[in-house]
Amino acid sequence: MKAHDGIYIDGAWRPAAGQDVIEVVNPADEQVIGAVPAGTALDVDTAVRAARAALPGWAATPPAERAARLAALRDVLVARKDEIAETVTAELGSPLPFSQAVHAAVPIAVAGSYAELAASYVFEEKVGNSTVHQEPVGVVGAITPWNYPLHQVVAKVAPALAAGCTVVLKPAEDTPLVAQLFAEAVHEAGVPAGVFNLVTGLGPVAGQALAEHPGVDLVSFTGSTAVGRQIGAIAGAAIKKVALELGGKSANVILPGADLARAVNVGVANVMSNSGQTCSAWTRMLVHRDRYDEAVALAAAAADKYADRIGPLVNARQQQRVRGYIEQGVAEGARLVAGGPEAPRERGYWVSPTVFADVTPDMTIAQEEIFGPVLSILRYEDEEDALRIANGTVYGLAGAVWAAEEAEAVAFARRMETGQVDINGGRFNPLAPFGGYKQSGVGRELGAHGLAEYLQTKSLQF
Ligand code: NAD
Repeated sequence: MKAHDGIYIDGAWRPAAGQDVIEVVNPADEQVIGAVPAGTALDVDTAVRAARAALPGWAATPPAERAARLAALRDVLVARKDEIAETVTAELGSPLPFSQAVHAAVPIAVAGSYAELAASYVFEEKVGNSTVHQEPVGVVGAITPWNYPLHQVVAKVAPALAAGCTVVLKPAEDTPLVAQLFAEAVHEAGVPAGVFNLVTGLGPVAGQALAEHPGVDLVSFTGSTAVGRQIGAIAGAAIKKVALELGGKSANVILPGADLARAVNVGVANVMSNSGQTCSAWTRMLVHRDRYDEAVALAAAAADKYADRIGPLVNARQQQRVRGYIEQGVAEGARLVAGGPEAPRERGYWVSPTVFADVTPDMTIAQEEIFGPVLSILRYEDEEDALRIANGTVYGLAGAVWAAEEAEAVAFARRMETGQVDINGGRFNPLAPFGGYKQSGVGRELGAHGLAEYLQTKSLQF
């Protein structure tokens, strides 16, 4: 894999201030595939200064020209989609077809959506005797995780650039190579120097320095709730704007009249996708007691088919964590019907597709985000019970409802405390706002709502 030995600041690759590097490991076989600089607070400071210097020019660039750069960026990503997929497969371990269909294709769709939105968005309107202007928030510090490594980057950088903001990105330490490829793409797309800057580095070093930097106006973070809480505290103390996309424990609610086989099969596929490393995964399946045994049998059979289809987890720590949760599920009395805590391969960070039955809402595996290929199936008595269970965690990121009638599913979904719900297997929509209720976060990404996060409002009275 190609790795730059520098950081991308002010339109050029340059050496980091220190000598330390982060080794990039392929989690499928534990081979070291490259190394990138471990940037420090000094590097972050240089990057933020470049972003500040570029801000007035980019903020004043007409939206149509910003849209043209984003369209060019999308075109470069399209031209390099095979390289993107191979890079994500190498550093995240996901099977190549999944990297092509999701890790490359989704960011391309999102970049394209912001090329269009930048051109069509109403940045100025008349309200009575006022004009209301949408102005860029300023310099954005973007901190992203490894699970959808390019998507998470594009979901922040594309709307920020569309809004007229400039950006410093600190990507996850496990997946920096696709972030470097993205920086090359931004460069190739003709985005002016300093508008986008990349500092690779460790979270508590480079990430924290970025969140704390007084030259950053908005911190946009995706990752764990624990780190999100720290970022929120830093932003609160400095009164800077903050967007947080955090964890989830989403419910897949199968109402009594639903097509059970379809709901269970799609539900299992959703949890196993990306080896369960998806914040919006439907990790709790809620089934009426009359159809519970049937659903458990279907889910166990479906999960076994994923044993040879899913990739490993991202690193040894995540593998340990997920195996620990599986052991805890057994210890708390849940019934294993597929998979288990044993590592299925000697090398690499693999975990078997795992399904638990007889899970009760108070169990740890029904409350905490596991971030692995682990499904918990819970039994409910009636619709009110299902709603109580669905809403009974600190999270509220996503979910699903299946019913015989769409209206019945919609009525239930309207009562769920969660930011996004798929009705009878609804498809991903890159324009639909995505984000959390409760402790799943603050703010929204994607579409016009995602763009609005990077804007602040000024009104002029006449
Ligand atoms: P994390 O929150 O530690 O890392 C996310 C990003 O934050 C990375 O870029 C990291 O370098 C950075 N970071 C870490 N500490 C920081 C700090 N003190 N200041 C500033 N930035 C910092 O997540 P993780 O350790 O990679 O994963 C742990 C858990 O987080 C997972 O098991 C999962 O539950 C959750 N997670 C959620 C998402 C999501 O999309 N919501 C994504 C990844 C992980």
